Amino acid sequence: MRKKLKKRIFVISAPSGTGKTTIGKILRTKIPGLELTISCTTRKPRPGEKNGIDYHFISVSRFRKMAENKKFAEWAEVYGNYYGTPEEEIRVKLHRGCKVLLTVDTQGGMNIKKLFPSAVLIGILPPSLREQEKRIKNRGKLTEKEFKKRMDAARKERQILVNNYDFRLINKNIETTIRKIQNIITKGKKY
Ligand code: 5GP
Repeated sequence: MRKKLKKRIFVISAPSGTGKTTIGKILRTKIPGLELTISCTTRKPRPGEKNGIDYHFISVSRFRKMAENKKFAEWAEVYGNYYGTPEEEIRVKLHRGCKVLLTVDTQGGMNIKKLFPSAVLIGILPPSLREQEKRIKNRGKLTEKEFKKRMDAARKERQILVNNYDFRLINKNIETTIRKIQNIITKGKKY
């Protein structure tokens, strides 16, 4: 009989411009029983983003109230906006027998590991700093100051990833990265 895998919470973190949101969405279609958590955020929706699908877009006061009432498994301020994973999102999905995938920043990943020590932390790195610069620039209109802020944050995230994450994958090719993560989630494969 196949041994049941105990690992059921997976966290993907990646510096800005690495493509982790796309990766998360593709993984969901490939792995039966894998659910993505929907975070709350105080940032404004981008064109095409839908409330309750991409994020729960909420006000700062509502976010603060939820944080005060300990509704978040983890929350963080990222680029001047708040982001948080409602703990209930995780618990309800686990209770239904699903595996849960979170795509959060590295502060979030570290906090999830504290709360759920069996969580598997997967870090995705861009092939090079240069490539990362290019991807951050391509993301839309950023002022020079905003661009610098994102690059600084990306460097710090990279450091946390390298020092603390269970897996570090270099995203040279999206199909290969997805296949590797799929193997980690479904087969417990080590990279
Ligand atoms: P974006 O605004 O581009 O969707 O996300 C900005 C950053 O916030 C990304 O690094 C993303 O992974 C992170 N993020 C999204 N949701 C959460 C969350 O619930 N908690 C934390 N800590 N970070 C999040």
